[in-house]
Amino acid sequence: MAVLMYQICRVCQHAQSRYIFQGQLLNHVVKYYECPICEFVQTENPYWLEKAYDSAINDVDTGIIKRNQMCSKRATNLCALLNIKDETILDYAGGYGIFTRLMRDVGFNVLWKDKYCDNLLAKGFGYDGQNIKLLTAFEVFEHLESPIHTLDEMFSISSNIFFSTLLIPEPTPKIEDWWYYGQRHGQHIGFYRKKTLEYLAKKYNKNLYSYNAEIHLFSEVKISKLFYMIFMKFYKLFYIYTQRRVSSRIWNDYIEVGERK
Ligand SMILES: [Zn+2]
Repeated sequence: MAVLMYQICRVCQHAQSRYIFQGQLLNHVVKYYECPICEFVQTENPYWLEKAYDSAINDVDTGIIKRNQMCSKRATNLCALLNIKDETILDYAGGYGIFTRLMRDVGFNVLWKDKYCDNLLAKGFGYDGQNIKLLTAFEVFEHLESPIHTLDEMFSISSNIFFSTLLIPEPTPKIEDWWYYGQRHGQHIGFYRKKTLEYLAKKYNKNLYSYNAEIHLFSEVKISKLFYMIFMKFYKLFYIYTQRRVSSRIWNDYIEVGERK
């Protein structure tokens, strides 16, 4: 079968995202494309997702708790930078609710929203159109079938988005040379570069902050790049202080959820 040489970029809609290679994903041979404008790397149209999402959280994810702990500490630090205390935060695609529960334990009013995954740990704190100051989206962007459509929705909910996705190295690694392609679970279908994120920041008129090619912020206000960097890098240290700005919601949540029953 002839290889389709170009696809429309799912980020900037440029018509000439160029074929770069193909490789094994689950038991399919999948083609990859790279956009010359925003440098986004994408798979061909992902027809295998139903199989990839047999379980919303993939079975080879052994680091899920550790990453959630790290994200909650970094988010707590970010809240200090953005001066967020009592305002509501939404964890978009919140999965089992681990992050939501951890952040409520620290003391933030965090809600969750997830179309695909049953929430196990933060029942009673689902999003229902509340006013949102900060939206978090950890390990979401690389799964998006239509990044622009989802970002439109996210920015209609909140002006600030704190998110993680591992930026793809330059030059683009071969499929067997980079674990983040996710060959065994098939759920990662789009890979961003700094240039892709800059394109998005410009499109939505936001400020962009990135730390270590993994944790990023689109914000409506400017903050110190230096503080963002050190609050993310030395997150455990700063967390000791930033968590003291708020008080745990464990007890109040216990009362609140109990009263609703
Ligand atoms: Zn593009």
